[in-house]
Amino acid sequence: MKVGVVGAGVMGLSTAYFLSKSGIDVTVFEQKYLLYGASGRNSGGVSPMVDREELIPFALESLRLYDTLPSEVNFNFLFRKNGYIKLASDEGDAEKIREGVSVLRRFGISSKVISPEEVKEIIPDFNPDSAVLASYCREGGVIFPWPVVWGLARGCRENGVEIRTEARVEKIERNGSRFTVHVNGEKYEFDFVVNSAGAWSNEVSRMVGIEQNNMIIKEEVCVTESIKPYINPYIYDITSGLYVTQTARGEIIGGITGKSVDRIDTSSTVEFAVRYAKGVTRMIPKLKGLAMLRQWAGVYDEGRDGLPVVGFTEIDGFVQANGLGKHRGMMIAPALGKELAKLIERGENSAIKKFDPQRF
Ligand SMILES: Cc1cc2nc3c(=O)[nH]c(=O)nc-3n(C[C@H](O)[C@H](O)[C@H](O)COP(=O)(O)OP(=O)(O)OC[C@H]3O[C@@H](n4cnc5c(N)ncnc54)[C@H](O)[C@@H]3O)c2cc1C
Repeated sequence: MKVGVVGAGVMGLSTAYFLSKSGIDVTVFEQKYLLYGASGRNSGGVSPMVDREELIPFALESLRLYDTLPSEVNFNFLFRKNGYIKLASDEGDAEKIREGVSVLRRFGISSKVISPEEVKEIIPDFNPDSAVLASYCREGGVIFPWPVVWGLARGCRENGVEIRTEARVEKIERNGSRFTVHVNGEKYEFDFVVNSAGAWSNEVSRMVGIEQNNMIIKEEVCVTESIKPYINPYIYDITSGLYVTQTARGEIIGGITGKSVDRIDTSSTVEFAVRYAKGVTRMIPKLKGLAMLRQWAGVYDEGRDGLPVVGFTEIDGFVQANGLGKHRGMMIAPALGKELAKLIERGENSAIKKFDPQRF
């Protein structure tokens, strides 16, 4: 069996890695370089506190994989397990915070509702007036996305996967029971093609005549100069979408969850910088006056019903592995890739039935 994977983000590489562990012949095509997509541009917040109940088992399994994969692929993912805090800054969202905690408890995950004053005990200088309620989960924290991508790529290569960069898939033709994939004037033959092209997945689906219509979301983020570490957990305000944490080097990294856009757009805006600076300094006033060193944007996609799109399509052998969704791709991709590899190998896998591309 030969599998071609379009896109070398965390989803494509996880799928390729688990396929290759079973001895399957895999080639991954990346239109630019490793880290070009959202997997190289995100803030690395990972936790079981994912916003959709259907995804909690995948977030939990991914956290487990983030523990075991580094030794398997011989690469440190620089995972800082300092917990995850969700904030609500209005009463309506406070109810979501309470509900979120009770859902997590049903899964046996220890998490608790805490007051803004208790957040201040965890993060000195947190402004308790900036939130009405919060929840805290000790599991999870911040993973550095670059080593995740590099490490998975290394594991893939060790298992014999060919990863071709600067290799944009331009055309996919159905050729009897196989596919011919056109890249840089060369042709490759595969039994399966996996579309893990993230925000570009609609374009790749169109190559085989599928109108997929995943939402495309643009998200902006920035880092400041380094200061002494004191923000340990990842903090995410579900009302404003603002999130912030501190990197191992002491930079304050943060952003605001993305907005749906009509086309790929990775431009940085002053509007974001101003909105973020106002929001984050209200949340943690001590950050006032810090210099912003770098600002960037990324794009990712989300299934139309808010769930990932992972599984077989009406075109035999063409497989979707996209639509991971708002602010959670890093949280769920390793486990989704593992389950998708099983589906391709065995022809069925009920664990990912709810993400079936043919549900639309
Ligand atoms: C600013 C920002 C912050 C985020 N923060 C978090 C967070 O804290 N926690 C979290 O869990 N998630 C977060 N996310 C979301 C997360 O980054 C994404 O969900 C995840 O990286 C998506 O992975 P992917 O493999 O599906 O897509 P990508 O990483 O985008 O990979 C798709 C790849 O396909 C390639 N490609 C496209 N078309 C072609 C083609 N025709 N031929 C060959 N290659 C092609 C692209 O170049 C790209 O590299 C954030 C995202 C952004 C942008």
